[in-house]
Amino acid sequence: MRNYLHVDLTTGLIEEKIIDPALARDFIGGSGLTARLLYDLIDQNTDPLGPDNPLLFMTGPLVGTSMPSAGRCTISALSPLTGFWGESNTGGFIGPELRFAGYDGMLITGRSEKPCWISVINGEVKLHDANKLWGQDTYQTQETIRKILAEPKARIACIGAAGEQLVKMAAVINDHGRAAGRTGMGAVMGSKNLKAIAFRGSGKAPLNDPEAFKETVTAILESLKEDISVQAMRMAGTAGYVDMALMFGDMPTRYYQQGEWEEGSNLSGVLMAEKHLTRNTACYRCPIVCGRETQTVKYKVDAVDGPEYETIASFGSLLMIDDLESVIYAGHLCNIHGLDTISTGSTIALACELFDKGILTKEQTGGLDIKYGDVEMAHRLIELTAHREGFGDLLAEGSAALAARFDVPEMSATVRNLEIPMHDSRAFSGMAPIYALSPRGACHMQGDIYLVDTGQGPPGELGIHPGDRFDNSEDKGRTAARVQAWRSIYNALTVCQFMNPGASQLLAGLNAATGWDYSLEELMKAGKRIFTLKRMLNIKLGSTQADDRLPDFMLTSLKDGGSLGFVPELEPLLAGAYKEHGWDPDTGIPKQETLAEFGLEFTTKQ
Ligand code: SF4
Repeated sequence: MRNYLHVDLTTGLIEEKIIDPALARDFIGGSGLTARLLYDLIDQNTDPLGPDNPLLFMTGPLVGTSMPSAGRCTISALSPLTGFWGESNTGGFIGPELRFAGYDGMLITGRSEKPCWISVINGEVKLHDANKLWGQDTYQTQETIRKILAEPKARIACIGAAGEQLVKMAAVINDHGRAAGRTGMGAVMGSKNLKAIAFRGSGKAPLNDPEAFKETVTAILESLKEDISVQAMRMAGTAGYVDMALMFGDMPTRYYQQGEWEEGSNLSGVLMAEKHLTRNTACYRCPIVCGRETQTVKYKVDAVDGPEYETIASFGSLLMIDDLESVIYAGHLCNIHGLDTISTGSTIALACELFDKGILTKEQTGGLDIKYGDVEMAHRLIELTAHREGFGDLLAEGSAALAARFDVPEMSATVRNLEIPMHDSRAFSGMAPIYALSPRGACHMQGDIYLVDTGQGPPGELGIHPGDRFDNSEDKGRTAARVQAWRSIYNALTVCQFMNPGASQLLAGLNAATGWDYSLEELMKAGKRIFTLKRMLNIKLGSTQADDRLPDFMLTSLKDGGSLGFVPELEPLLAGAYKEHGWDPDTGIPKQETLAEFGLEFTTKQ
């Protein structure tokens, strides 16, 4: 990782910044590096939607190389949705194209007076007027910019109506419908009056030892051929998990209130493949090809990106909608308007729950009857949210704000103000400490122990082994913390978490690409360093141990379904995780010796 581009939209300054090689080695890239850079740039006085909130795009040292599934890009800033550390990463081709255009990352500061967009083409950076683009949806925006540039292969990251309207759960969309969905990075872009960034380049990602790298890549490709979960992902995409999730009680139903739901099988990946799939799609150099393109005759859309499992559960089981075509269309609406499907679906489901309980009434919704299972209403609420119209203006603030508005904060399925993704920690106890400690708020991409426990996750050589999914011991908490450290590496490499060839192989690839001499132990230490840095950044932003929690209703057992009668016990699980991370068991604050070991003493100096 050598450099990043800095564009200040207030002054028009454009400059190249060199990354300190020692910093690159310690924080690797992706969200490791953005956390380190942002640590010095934001504090409790930073307005997430003000010009002083820096927005960072960052790739990783394997991005744009021949390493399979290593084409992602992280976007980070102070989150307008949560008020804490924000990060989201996206697949497609945008990460590699950014590197080919001459930069490993990009920092955007300030605020443009008028709507603008930026092009970065082979090192040449230009600011453009976006007046005519403002109001276009994300697909139109990508097409229009390609035409303006006469670059049919330019890769474009952009916002839709939601980002323009500063909807707190707005996503950044690229490569048709790929999304950096979580924590409201689209709203940060909108607050800067920045509609889009286009990348195109003919450069190459550097390799320190091309021969050794090629050997490792060949071995990894061979191992992926044998990997049964890769084959399953190729056949059914992430939607293939629906049936398994229903069996385990992992797919949240009726806003986490119900365990069993027979109609859920109408949302299965196999049905999607039979009735709606038009083709499989892949991100840059990915042999797994988990992406789906679907069509819906009912809603007259020929090419819908997805839906992924998370979208299917968010607009399906969570809302008691079992019509797959309607769910596909809900995902499509989110893509074109640039909304995070998880946060949007979950916030609408909370509105259903509040309405069901009589806490929310027709007078407060502007005459809308908000009920579970009402497909048309779900679609309408997506539109209202994206444009901040009527009751949508309140939904646009997210679940935590909605619940707080009606004085029932305990009813919001959020951790650190981020909507919980579509894995119920009552089905996999290890997800409880993962959610409670995840630095960006509840997140399955900061630790996927549900996959470990079903034999599909990171490899055993890291001390991460499949275990009892109902284990409430400290040991389980320790394993969860190791998974968090390992996935922090992935989020720093910006490598796809569905590519799991074995830690040693990935390490060999990283060392060959960079010339670093990481051991596996050191690499795990880097993962913990990054995770602890994000913890310290959240503490700087006002987070306390009281945020290491789950909503009470998620710690109440369900009366039926695959998790029948089980609840995670947060206390021992968190105790184990704190120990593994080297944090104080009483306060949850990283110990001085931990900060010293990781070279993070600077975090105690402000
Ligand atoms: S597995 Fe899927 S999400 Fe991951 S890189 Fe491949 S196509 Fe993209």
